[in-house]
Amino acid sequence: MDCPDCGSTKITSEVGPEQATGTNLETAIFSADEGSSVQVVHQCWNCGWEETRTVTVDEVTVKHGDKEVIEHSRLVSQLIAAAQSIEDTDKLERLLDDAQTEAES
Ligand SMILES: [Zn+2]
Repeated sequence: MDCPDCGSTKITSEVGPEQATGTNLETAIFSADEGSSVQVVHQCWNCGWEETRTVTVDEVTVKHGDKEVIEHSRLVSQLIAAAQSIEDTDKLERLLDDAQTEAES
């Protein structure tokens, strides 16, 4: 960004003042709790212009994947891969029969 006062590009962006010096914005936001805020201070080294932007974390939503669903699709793809390596048609038919029987039970 350029300084809005003097047009200089010598702008520094610092996350703070509550975070340690050098903390990057991504880290600061990911570690922020709900309702807390992260401040970013922009300073122009040429003319001394300064701006502080405050981002408030409104809501933190955490979603975890379903382990059983993941395990199920992992097994299905393993089964498909195993079936694809069987060249004998009779064996494949027996496997399909077994799978269909299992699916119905
Ligand atoms: Zn400036």
